[in-house]
Amino acid sequence: MTDPGRVGRGPRGPLAAGERVLLVDHHDRRYLIRLVPGASFQSHAGVVEHDALIGRPEGSEVVAWRRDGGSGPARRFLAVRPTLADVIVKMPRGAQVIYPKDLGAILVAADLFPGARVLEAGVGSGALSMTALQAGCEVTGYEIREDFARRARANVAELLGADAPFRVEERDVYEGIAETGLDRVLLDLPEPWRVVEHAERALLPGGILLAYLPSITQTAELRARLARASFALAETFEILRRSWHIEGRSVRPDHRMVAHTGFVTTARRVEARGFSGGERDGDGGPAGGVED
Ligand code: SAH
Repeated sequence: MTDPGRVGRGPRGPLAAGERVLLVDHHDRRYLIRLVPGASFQSHAGVVEHDALIGRPEGSEVVAWRRDGGSGPARRFLAVRPTLADVIVKMPRGAQVIYPKDLGAILVAADLFPGARVLEAGVGSGALSMTALQAGCEVTGYEIREDFARRARANVAELLGADAPFRVEERDVYEGIAETGLDRVLLDLPEPWRVVEHAERALLPGGILLAYLPSITQTAELRARLARASFALAETFEILRRSWHIEGRSVRPDHRMVAHTGFVTTARRVEARGFSGGERDGDGGPAGGVED
């Protein structure tokens, strides 16, 4: 089943049978359910009938009834359609997924555009695949583990339908890339430097290679390999996201924050040599001004 709202007309209108809905309680506990006529959702708080949601506007409240007839106030849930980030956090996964904060940055750093021909390896659970597909890319994935490949196909089909432009092959990207004329190569695996030569042949001039890596020594090894190949304008960054607690007069950063996820490195496939990056400071900040 697909989330019908995501395909074609956009996620609008009353909640419909077959769609996924996120139920959120007052403690911000979140549950992702798919609406099936006659079905019910059971939780610690009680039972929610799907029929009480089907046909209701998004953002409605629904009350859970207690099977034991127990006392205390009825638990209520807010029902909204899940965002891509909600789905990614909740979906079944084998491999570690890329966090939404990093996916957002990757979208722009890799300049993922509608119709871009993208090679992605490894596919893992498909979080990055979904992000690229939702941006309109055509994605071919290489994944060495058959079980992960299967799960990624299922996760993508659940979100975007079986006809999404997504193909996963069970193969080892270190052995080569069969595709040519690619716009983007996205890598989330342990030794991306072993893919640099393949990506060099597979990418169109001006194309972008992006790699996501947990450790900076891996990143340095990748950068060294990129510097020796036909790649330029290399950049590496990480995203530190600090959320805030805002409640009445208590307005401060949250106590906890994810300290580290991964480093993102990008580079452009070029014909020229000797523009390997590393000279420029950051993202057009004080030292990165534009000359006119
Ligand atoms: N980006 C994915 C997570 C990828 S986890 C997501 O957002 O969901 C890394 C994946 O790379 C794993 O599934 C692993 O099986 C796969 N992998 C590791 N080495 C590989 C190789 N040489 N070729 C293809 N896939 C590989």
